[in-house]
Amino acid sequence: LETQLFRAQRLESIGTLASGIAHDLNNILTPILAVSQLLPLKFPEIYSGHEHLLEILEDSARRGADLVKQVLSFARGVEGKRMTLQVKHLIREVVKIVKQTFPRSIEVCIDVAPDLWTVYGDSTQLHQVLMNLCVNARDAMPDGGSLTISADNLLIDENYARMNLEAKVGPYTVITVADAGVGIPREIVERIFEPFFTTKELGKGTGLGLSTVIGIIKSHGGFVNVYSEVGRGTQFKVYLPAAQGIQIELTPQLEPLAGKGE
Ligand code: ADP
Repeated sequence: LETQLFRAQRLESIGTLASGIAHDLNNILTPILAVSQLLPLKFPEIYSGHEHLLEILEDSARRGADLVKQVLSFARGVEGKRMTLQVKHLIREVVKIVKQTFPRSIEVCIDVAPDLWTVYGDSTQLHQVLMNLCVNARDAMPDGGSLTISADNLLIDENYARMNLEAKVGPYTVITVADAGVGIPREIVERIFEPFFTTKELGKGTGLGLSTVIGIIKSHGGFVNVYSEVGRGTQFKVYLPAAQGIQIELTPQLEPLAGKGE
């Protein structure tokens, strides 16, 4: 527990540090980007034939600016606009984008329980969570494969809550994003949620995807589990406290000892 606490504090200070750097970096990148666009317009005779150099400059500055945006949205940890959400709709929206933008070699499957409990949350943030997980699934399957998004209800009982410190007794909606990709080696699985941890090549990954996922899910009172096997694939399970079904479903579970004659 102590190491968990220590880790959480360390992650928090990395976040604070990162957002400080991100702000400064933004001020540095803005003029670089602006001037690299302005120069060829002001001095076309000097730069003609060398446009590619300015493009490199502009590209890099833009990439830096994108990174800054991601760091800031990660570190801000805003509450967002909370409302009762149908997870089914959320998944449907994400799947639409995935189908339009991912390579054809990736087959998308959906498996949503018919009477899924609603959750109380920010749809933009939860959308981002699912997109980040899908993008990672895509990157884990360079030769294609199946990406499955499923959702189900789960009633967390006292035993479960005892084993998992982040879980509370009560109803949860569980969203699973599963791929048949390369899998995550045991030695790095501990680190994948750290900000800036990435195994992707330069320019492909920022290492902020999963830390954003964790940040958003934690702010929703939920948690994330990962199951992975190298060469077989990976499953990310996102647990969100359900917004309904509480009274009806929980009564028998909450009083297991009552009336036992003790
Ligand atoms: P990024 O995607 O920018 O690298 P993330 O925080 O999203 O950052 O992921 C961190 C690392 O976790 C990835 O670089 C990769 O090594 C590993 N990872 C995440 N999702 C998967 C997955 N579905 N399959 C295999 N490895 C994964």
